[in-house]
This record gives sequence, structure tokens and C-alpha cells, in this order.
Amino acid sequence: PISATDLIEPHRICVCVRKRPLNKQEINKKEIDVISVPGRGALLVHEPKQKVDLTKYLDNQTFHFDYSFDETATNDLVYKFTAKPLVQSIFEGCMATCFAYGQTGSGKTHTMGGDFTGRQQNSAKGIYALAAQDVFACLNHRRYSNLDLSAYVSFFEIYNGKVYDLLNKKAKLRVLEDDRQQVQVVGLEEVYVTTAEDVIRVIQTGSACRTSGQTSANANSSRSHAVLQIVLRRNDRATSLHGKFSLVDLAGNERGTDVSSNDRSTLVETAEINRSLLALKECIRSLGKNSDHIPFRMSTLTKVLRDSFIGEKSRTCMIAMVSPGMASCEYTMNTLRYADSPH
Ligand code: ADP
Ligand code: MG
Repeated sequence: PISATDLIEPHRICVCVRKRPLNKQEINKKEIDVISVPGRGALLVHEPKQKVDLTKYLDNQTFHFDYSFDETATNDLVYKFTAKPLVQSIFEGCMATCFAYGQTGSGKTHTMGGDFTGRQQNSAKGIYALAAQDVFACLNHRRYSNLDLSAYVSFFEIYNGKVYDLLNKKAKLRVLEDDRQQVQVVGLEEVYVTTAEDVIRVIQTGSACRTSGQTSANANSSRSHAVLQIVLRRNDRATSLHGKFSLVDLAGNERGTDVSSNDRSTLVETAEINRSLLALKECIRSLGKNSDHIPFRMSTLTKVLRDSFIGEKSRTCMIAMVSPGMASCEYTMNTLRYADSPH
């Protein structure tokens, strides 16, 4: 398992993998755990029947990560290595994004802490809450007090390439790019917050809005991307932007392989999820190669997160979640290939 001394120097792009434990149902079904995490940046998929050690194979395929977390890792630990350095960075004026990627059921929402339909205690301990705590710890720290900053929160959903404001009754919003390539979500609600509890309340409101309206197509959260943004603004007359942290609970990536449906709306949905996840991959690849050309216009998702990809002050962290069971092996391999060594 990872220890605090393993913390590496922060860089523009960090890619990690997190394995969740087998759940009760899986254990009851005698599901086999095919994943092991032998070291800081390594992850092993055991070929179930042959019991072949695939380290070499994975090495040849260069499945490398900055960090890999096994099933004993807590949200606290994952936070410390992934989002915490990004919180620091937004006080230095960075635009940062942390993505939770993986198939439905792999632990994205658990990691982010956005499951407010479940037990409250569990939700309170995810990356959302931990980041919020640190934002206010920094905001009240004398090191940053001369900056004279305030914090605001936005929360929206991207479904079928459209932006819906979760803090304003799922109002459909337009995404505009000006001639300086600055991207703006027009009319996006920004709530002024002064405590971590304020942030949690806003997330609760947004989460309730997200799952409301069971008849609407985007009631199923696994088909949309949820974006929480913590924005730092200077207390000048223009309340100009200082730094921004976007926390993204991505749509389930298993849809990428599900092309069997006859239902047209499902096909459109699938195509759109594929498109946006592919666009994200391309952007992350470009970041990894330190390329100046980042293809952010490929999807709404990457467009609204443009700030986090372009320039010296951009920071990105991707946490790829994997389920440990043999039944999920195919999806797990897809996830690992996706997250594979961008730098
Ligand atoms: P996703 O958002 O990727 O669809 P969830 O976060 O909802 O997946 O996780 C599915 C289930 O597994 C939930 O019941 C969640 O509480 C549980 N779970 C996920 N990750 C972990 C973990 N690391 N430790 C314990 N339980 C987990
Ligand atoms: Mg989820």
C-alpha cells in the first residue's frame, strides 16, 4: 500500500487507478478478485483460469500510473495524493480538474462523495467534502489572506452534449467561446460559500436536482457527467477569476462497448458518451506529451474544462476506478487501456 512518503512532485497531469473491494453480493456469488496492486504505480490483472502473472504483459503494454490504490485505501488517502495538491494549486492561480473515470459501479461517486441518497456519513468523507475543507483552511490561512479571495460553487451536468444547471432546476445553458478562446457557460449559477458545510449543502441541493424527474432521460446519473466547480474570485469590483477547481464524476464508460441496443435514444446517448470520453482521452494524451495543441473543442465536456488543459497554470488529475471481479474484467481492461501512460 501507498504511504505518505510516496508523494511525488505535482505535475500538469497525474493519472491514478483505484480498485474497490468486492462487495457483499459479489462475495456471496463467489466472485473472484482478479486485481492486485503490488506497488505504487503498478496494477495486475490475473488471468483467472490460467493463473498467469500478467505483470510482464502489462509492462509490455505499458500500463503505468502515478499512483495505484488498492481496496484498503480510504478516500482520505486517495484525496491526499490526487485532489489535495490541486486545491493548493488554485490558490496559486491554477485551473485544476480532477476526474473520476470508470464503469458504473466501480466507485466514482463513492470516491467523489456525491452519493447523497445513501448514508450521509459516507458521502461526507469523499473528495468533494475534503477539498471543500481544505479550500476554507487555505482561504483563512494568513499565507493567502493578502489575496483577498472569496469562494463560489457551481454544479452542473453534461448530458448528450448539453449543459444543465443543477443549481437552477436543470436549466439548459449555452456554452460560448469568445475570440480569445475563453469558454463560458452562459448564466451558470454561482453560489457564494463561506464554509465547507455550505459547499456540502449546495452539493446536496444539486444532487437532489440531478436525480429528480424519474421520467426524464437524464435521470440516470451514469449517463451524464456531473461537474462541481469551486471558484476563487478576487474581492475587487470585477470579482475577477483567480483559480478554479472542477471535480468531475464522469458518465459510466461501459456504454462504449454497449452497441447492441435498438433504441435510438440509447444509441445517441452512447455515441455522445463515447465522443466525450474520447475527446477527454485525446486532451489528456496531448497534456502528457506536453503538446501545445489540446483538442478541447472535440466535446462539450472538454470545452467547458478548457482552462484546465491549456497553459502553464493548468492541472489535471484522473482517477480511474476499477471493479475487482472477474465478471468486470473486460471493462476493467478497457479502463486500464484508457488511463494507460499518458506521459
Ligand atoms: P459509480 O459511481 O462508479 O457507479 P459507486 O461509487 O456508486 O460507483 O459505487 C458502487 C458501490 O460500491 C456503492 O455501493 C459504493 O458505496 C461501493 N464502493 C465503491 N467504492 C468503494 C470503496 N473503495 N470501498 C467501499 N465501497 C465502495
Ligand atoms: Mg456514480
